[in-house]
This record gives sequence, structure tokens and C-alpha cells, in this order.
Amino acid sequence: MKKKSRMAPSDGATLHYRIEPVLPKAHLFEITLEITHPDPQGQKLALPVWIPGSYLVREFSRHIVEIGAHESARKRPIELVKLDKNTWQAPPASGTLVVVYKVYAWDLSVRAAHLDETHGFFNGTSVFLRVVGQEHLRHEVTLAPPPGKSYQGWRVATTLAELDAKRYGFGRYWAPSYDALVDHPVELGSFQLLSFKASGVPHELAITGRVPNLDVERVRRDVKAICEEQIRLFEPQTSAAPFQRYVFLLTVLGEGYGGLEHRDSTALICARDALPALNGRDPGDSYASFLGLVSHEYFHSWNVKRIKPQRFAPYDFDQENYTSLLWIFEGFTSYYDDLILVRTQLLPVERYLQTLAKTIAEVQNASGRLKQSVSESSFDAWIKYYRQDENSANAIVSYYKKGSLIALGLDLTIRAASAGKRSLDDVMRHLWRRYGQDFYPQNVRGLGEDEFVQLVLDSTGVDVTREVRQWAYGTTDVPLEALFKPFGVAMNPGAPGNGGRGATKSTRPSLGARVTSEGGLARLATVSDGGPAQVAGLSAGDVLIALDGLRVSASNLDTLLERYSAGHAIDIHAFRRDELLEVRLLLGSPPLQWQLSAAPGRRRLRQAWLGQAPAANRQPSP
Ligand code: ZN
Repeated sequence: MKKKSRMAPSDGATLHYRIEPVLPKAHLFEITLEITHPDPQGQKLALPVWIPGSYLVREFSRHIVEIGAHESARKRPIELVKLDKNTWQAPPASGTLVVVYKVYAWDLSVRAAHLDETHGFFNGTSVFLRVVGQEHLRHEVTLAPPPGKSYQGWRVATTLAELDAKRYGFGRYWAPSYDALVDHPVELGSFQLLSFKASGVPHELAITGRVPNLDVERVRRDVKAICEEQIRLFEPQTSAAPFQRYVFLLTVLGEGYGGLEHRDSTALICARDALPALNGRDPGDSYASFLGLVSHEYFHSWNVKRIKPQRFAPYDFDQENYTSLLWIFEGFTSYYDDLILVRTQLLPVERYLQTLAKTIAEVQNASGRLKQSVSESSFDAWIKYYRQDENSANAIVSYYKKGSLIALGLDLTIRAASAGKRSLDDVMRHLWRRYGQDFYPQNVRGLGEDEFVQLVLDSTGVDVTREVRQWAYGTTDVPLEALFKPFGVAMNPGAPGNGGRGATKSTRPSLGARVTSEGGLARLATVSDGGPAQVAGLSAGDVLIALDGLRVSASNLDTLLERYSAGHAIDIHAFRRDELLEVRLLLGSPPLQWQLSAAPGRRRLRQAWLGQAPAANRQPSP
């Protein structure tokens, strides 16, 4: 079967790719690209420098090894000229141009490509050269199995459309354009398959990695509930999903967490311990984070894959694509990921409030939020959020975390101002109808950089000009304590983990630094601007040796500090590189912590917000 199904051009398609995991042990895919009508002036070929959803230039072309070309008629090799880091040019040609290259695939993340004897995974952005000028044409792909009998059990999981391939089989697939071709990642291997229907649409989880005793039924039931809740949120009347099929490509590892969204699928990585086992062992918070990840990436099917910033429609694969709106596309998605878990009762309200309290404290404890707005953080994601270093907490704000608090603040504002008749759900549905539902294949334009406030007004009647200006384009904190009041949620200082047992406050004083363990030593990872460590003259990278003459390590630092209070001065010995420092440090107040609690009694606004009202009472969209 190996080379039989080679590239017979068919169905009018003039672009054919064949991808074969030729050397799993060497992590090499071989790709053969046939272009029936190359540009007569000389065909340009380019590999994306980034993958949509992950805003960093990753230079995927650095993994191309061995690239060559020939004209199919004459079999004569022709020379490709490298024009820049990711672009090649073939000389003028009349016949079919054939380009053959190998891609080194040893990145076990959701963003690139990976291949070994256990499985293969790739995003099109890592392996498929773009035929410049022919992006709008139909693209065909032959997925070939690795050579050798040991791979006979391998199957294929992808949402690329089958041409002559059977579902889960090797063979030919196709996509209507280059943009579509690279938005359907592919998993190859002997994954476990778990299927269900959500709102009548087939959904699958292809699980790679060993998971003993997986509680398949629980995962199926919970993921299905999340999907149906989100479909209902966007289409309350019709419950119509935006796709005909959806696939979760899940890789399970000992440790790991992450996801990347695509139009009809997502690639996820989670830790084995996060998944429930049949013996009833409770994976606790880590399962809730896994479901939060599922919910987050699935929500992106609407918010960023179809409702898009105008700046992403279409994507420019050759360079950074700047938008100041990631606080909407990532922040709102981060708000809804957990909220959906509450509305489906997969996350108890008390636990949800603890999670919110933690996010609020995390945002407030970093001074970067006073120097950068989330719109600036969105715009500079390429050089700041995605390239964090020891100074990031002092310099940048997360458009995920603060963005999710802005979504929360806007939701509470709209609900309170409309007496519960309108909410952020109405805004999302309005964005969906206006930009999202016809995005494919019509490619309607995306959300303009300055349109959001007007859209909120149009869909809810509430003017949030001031809030958006201050919270998203300025550095003002979202005044959640006041916004929570009409919803019967109290916000008090205290540790978030002891809900219901009264506020307890951590009294351990602060060094004004985040400390990590480096071979057991206490190393300062981040030093807060203006905090005790910086004032004393300590810097990121310094290794603490002794506190008041007592040896200190990563494991006993907290215990030692607990004997002191804020305002005490202590003597610190530390190494900067190999030179000993002695400083006197005035201990600071403990970091802010919050406790959120729901007041007893029935609260109509809170119940509508957290989705506990009976389904029949939910507000239909205007
Ligand atoms: Zn996201």
C-alpha cells in the first residue's frame, strides 16, 4: 500500500501533498508536494513562521532538513533558491513541479509536530509549504502510514475531510484552501477513541498515551455536557453546532497541560493524574482543570476561530499579526471556560468562587498591571506575554487573567444595569451572528479594533464605554468588590481555600520575591518592583544562603519566615553568581489574598449568572 496511492491528480485538484512518517526513530516526516500549474514566473513556496492561537514567531522552517525539487516530466532536478528564512523559489517551469522535503518532528507540544515509534502528530503549519498565489485552491493530502509491520495498528484522527480514505484510515483527504489545510491537526497512532453526540453532532476524543483504568463514561458524560452547554449558549433556539464533526486530540503525559484551538478540533495535553479512574479515585482539582481546558479550547470554536479580530482575517503566516483584542478572544474565553463548568454543575459554586478569588489576587499582586493595559499586552503578546522573563511580573499584565476579570466585570455590570434581562451571553451571541456564523466559507470580515463597545450597546442597551476605557485600555483594576454586591457575593481578605470556615489570613511576611528551588537551593526567580528584596539590593538569580545566620533552603524558607512579622528586619546572606552578598531586609506584608463567599438565601441575579435557574427560564437572545 505504501507508494501505490501516489498522487493521481483527481477531482480537479492541482495541489497534492503526500506526508509519510518515513523514519519514526529519527523523527522525520517526508513530504512530497506536486504543483500541477506552478507560477510561470517561478513558483514561491513558504512555511508559516507561526501557528494561529499561539502568538510567537517560532520559525517552523528551521526544522526542514533536505529539500529538493524536480519537474515531473523530465525528472530533472531543479534548483530551489532560498529567498529568506522561510521562503524558497523555483525557477520558471511549465510542467508539474515536485518538491520533496523532510521535517524533523520532535516537539511534544500542541504547537508543532512530533514523531516516534509510539505516535505521530502534526499541525499543517509545521509541515505543509504554502504554494504562494494558490492558497485559495483545493488542497489534497495523502496521509501514508509509516513503513514496516510494527505500525500496522496505526490509525488517523483528524477533521480533514476524507477523499478516498475511510474514517480513521490512511489515504487521501482534502481541504478547500491552504488556510483550512493547516487548521486541521493530524494524529497518527494507536489512540483510544471515545465518541458521543452533542446536539446531534458527532464528537470524538482520540486519547494518546497510556491511561490505566480510565473512567471513560465519566469523561464522555462530562465533556458532552460542556459541549452542549456551549452550543446552547450561542444558539439557544436551534442548538446548532458550528461544525459537522468535532475531534479532541488528547495526548496524556506524566506531566503537562496545554491546548491549541482549531476550527473543528483541538490538540490537548494533560497529565495522567488529571483523569478519573474506574476505581472511583477522585482526581480533584486537576480533573476540574482538565475540564476547564476542554471547555476553553471548545469555546474558541466560536470565539477566535469564527468570531475573529479583523486583523486575523485572513492570517498572515509570514509575520506577526497585531491586534489589541486578545483580551476579548483569550480573556473572555478564560472567563467562560470555568463559568460553563459551573453552569453544567461540574464545578460547585464554592469552588468556582475560590478559583475567581485566586485569579483576582494573582492579578493584583503583580505590579505589571499598573504599567501595561490588556490591550497593550494583546498587541505586544509576540514579544512580551509569549517571551516572559524574570521581570515579566513587574512589566506586563496577562490578557488571559485580567481579560477574564474584565469579562466578569462587564457581565456583572450588564446584568445589574438591565435588572438581569441582559448579559455578556447576549454580547457573545451578537458577535456570533454578526461575525462568526458565516465566517466559513464566506470569510466575512472580523471584529474591528474599535467596535466592541458599540456592539455591547447594540446587544444589551448598556453603555460600557467608561468601563472598557479604564479596565482594558487603561490600567484600572476591575472594581469587583462593588460589582459583586448585587449578586450576593462577599469579597473579603483571607485565604481562598477555607470557604465557609471564616476568613484566615496568612501572616507569613513577604520577601517581595518569588523563590524557586534550584537543586534544593532557594533561588530568587522574580523580584518585585519596590518590594523588600529589591530595596535590600537582592536581584533575580541570587541564591539565598542564610537568614539571620540560619541556613536556608527552598524547603525551609517558609517555615523560617513564619517566625517573623512584617516590619522585622533580617540579615540575609546570598550568592550572586559566585560572590557573597550580605544585606539587611525589612520584611513586607503578606501578599493579598481574597475570599469570595455566596450569601445564603435565594439571589435571583446570582442564580441567573451562574446558570442555576431551570433551563426553561433562561433568557432567549434578543
Ligand atoms: Zn485560549
